[in-house]
Amino acid sequence: MKASFTLIAGPCSAESREQVLAAAEGLKDAGLSYFRAGIWKPRTRPGAFEGVGSTGLPWLQEVQREVGLKVCIEVAKPRHIEEALEAGIDMVWVGARTTANPFQVQDIADALQGVNIPVAVKNPTQPDLALWSGAVERMQRAGIQDLMAVHRGFTVHGQKTYRNAPLWQIPIDFRNAHPDIPLLNDPSHITGQRDMVPDVAQMSVDLGFDGLMVEVHPDPDQAWTDAAQQLTPKRFVELLQELDFRSDAQGATHERLAALRSEIDVIDEALVELLARRMGVSENIGLYKKDHGLTILQNARWKQILRQSAQLAEGQGLDAAFIEDVYKAIHQASIAAQRKVIRDRSK
Ligand code: PEP
Ligand code: MN
Repeated sequence: MKASFTLIAGPCSAESREQVLAAAEGLKDAGLSYFRAGIWKPRTRPGAFEGVGSTGLPWLQEVQREVGLKVCIEVAKPRHIEEALEAGIDMVWVGARTTANPFQVQDIADALQGVNIPVAVKNPTQPDLALWSGAVERMQRAGIQDLMAVHRGFTVHGQKTYRNAPLWQIPIDFRNAHPDIPLLNDPSHITGQRDMVPDVAQMSVDLGFDGLMVEVHPDPDQAWTDAAQQLTPKRFVELLQELDFRSDAQGATHERLAALRSEIDVIDEALVELLARRMGVSENIGLYKKDHGLTILQNARWKQILRQSAQLAEGQGLDAAFIEDVYKAIHQASIAAQRKVIRDRSK
């Protein structure tokens, strides 16, 4: 692990003094930068548990005093900031639903004006890089020096694998736009499932993220919020040991190379997914042609595709001959796929 790696862990919600202290005790020697616990919880539906509120502040002070960990909470209103500062909370974070609302972010930035406390800004729920950057810039204008960003995934319609789709290209773009702001990953809210947490955490390490925020609960199945995604302290410590920090093995000079290669992996995944989608559409075209007595190769259309792709290539500064080769390969595969789908149907 690099020396500057930021580790934040703790329960989704503070539930009781005993639960908070048990979580903190379990994490005592895990090398945390901050212990987390939500006391004001943004819930999607009314009537759900909305956090213990200010009642939880003395429990966190006890963690500071008795366990010796720094503590952080989510803030969504100026009043939350006043109470956090008064209680001596060490760091605050802005949650995903708050980042999505510039009015609310500005209220928080105003309340933080002239205050010297570290702040983490989670990405907004929607996949909108500008909204995330905007929230960070409001904090910078308020004079916050110690800023972090947390990637916790995005709401994407129809998404099934993840609770919040990681859309890795967005944090990669964020990092390039804000190279000086440490970028943490929150695999708990991305996956929504504890079994998937290690894999996403490793992906973020491969992409050169600067830290992790992970939900850890002494008895995850009994948690009042986000039960399915929380880890026991023991499992969290194991996860830290399992993480493969390539830069350690290969020497710090290769850290940038590893990050760039992981960026290529993300793009390749998207490329293959697009090709598969194109092929699916192409097969439907094949069936349509069959039903309407059209030949598979429509030469005028093929020439149009070649012209179009050459223009697009030029616009992107790509070599036209290279793109022509790529398109010829795609076209060949497309014709083969159309013939196959027609053959299979007539069997
Ligand atoms: C949380 O960290 O508990 C939380 C509510 O996260 P998010 O804002 O990412 O949904
Ligand atoms: Mn949570």
